[in-house]
Amino acid sequence: MSAIGFIGLGQMGMPMALNLLKGGHSLKVFDINEAAIQQLVTQGATAAVSPADAALDAEFVVTMLPNGTLVKNVLFGENSVVSALNKDALVIDMSTIHPHETDALIQAMSDKGFAMMEAPVGRTSEHAVRGELLIMAGGTKSQIERAQPLFDCMGSETIDAGGAGKGIRVKIINNYMSIALNALSAEAATLAEAIGLDWDTAMKVMSGTPAGKGHFTTTWPGKVLAGDLSPVFMIDLAHKDLGIALELANQVHVPMPCGAASRELYSAARASGRGRQDWTAILEQLRVTSGLTAKVK
Ligand code: NAD
Repeated sequence: MSAIGFIGLGQMGMPMALNLLKGGHSLKVFDINEAAIQQLVTQGATAAVSPADAALDAEFVVTMLPNGTLVKNVLFGENSVVSALNKDALVIDMSTIHPHETDALIQAMSDKGFAMMEAPVGRTSEHAVRGELLIMAGGTKSQIERAQPLFDCMGSETIDAGGAGKGIRVKIINNYMSIALNALSAEAATLAEAIGLDWDTAMKVMSGTPAGKGHFTTTWPGKVLAGDLSPVFMIDLAHKDLGIALELANQVHVPMPCGAASRELYSAARASGRGRQDWTAILEQLRVTSGLTAKVK
């Protein structure tokens, strides 16, 4: 069982710290919110008066804070973690911050002779309560192995993202997709309601197609990812259907910003001569437009 300094006891940090306590670890906790500290003290944690105090004698220091500036302040500011940290301790930042901030913090820690990795989390605070977070570990194999007992208390799955800085990068990509998909889904649901569809019926249809299932596991593997752009469903037809939906939306005054932007991409694909290719060629279209080397001719 390990001595852990835990900093940032909010919506996520509080249940994560509680699960570490339940796992038998010894916790010294710090937050600018004194009530949060006291709540954990009643569960067996020790109160810290500063980030430095939380780091004193710790084998691990975990940070779960709202942004990169705060992580930097806690690590390097006044009464900071580095002023008290043992050289053999491991700092694990589990916050969601800009990857360039992560890179700079890991480098700055390394320059001072300290080890740091990032391990941002997927899923929600409800999963945090149940110890079912998805942990995206960015660090060396040995750092991940060392932190695994902690991750096992807080999460149900740890993914080795492939090295320092890769954990936060995959986290940002994951959030980009799920956040943007939330907006696209809201457009579709709003249009469905506005044209008089029954919600349950519409949901049933979309749950059984790539609309609800996503493309990664349905349309992409057998086509674009396999290097096959022969059409199962053509870009030209997808472009036509998108146009019909946007026209309908216009008639019932539903704004469709995600759909309108998507149509531009399909239009560009057609202009690039991909009209008769499979709709999954949209991936190849965007890759090539972005200067990445074409994978499929
Ligand atoms: P939160 O605002 O609920 O908690 C942040 C905590 O940090 C608060 O208790 C606050 O008092 C404390 N804090 C702020 N400044 C501090 C400082 N200088 N020193 C010590 N403590 C300080 O936020 P949250 O929802 O717990 O999110 C934390 C991180 O986890 C964020 O980076 C967020 O993006 C990420 N995240 C959140 C979720 C979610 O569902 N809420 C899911 C995955 C990842």
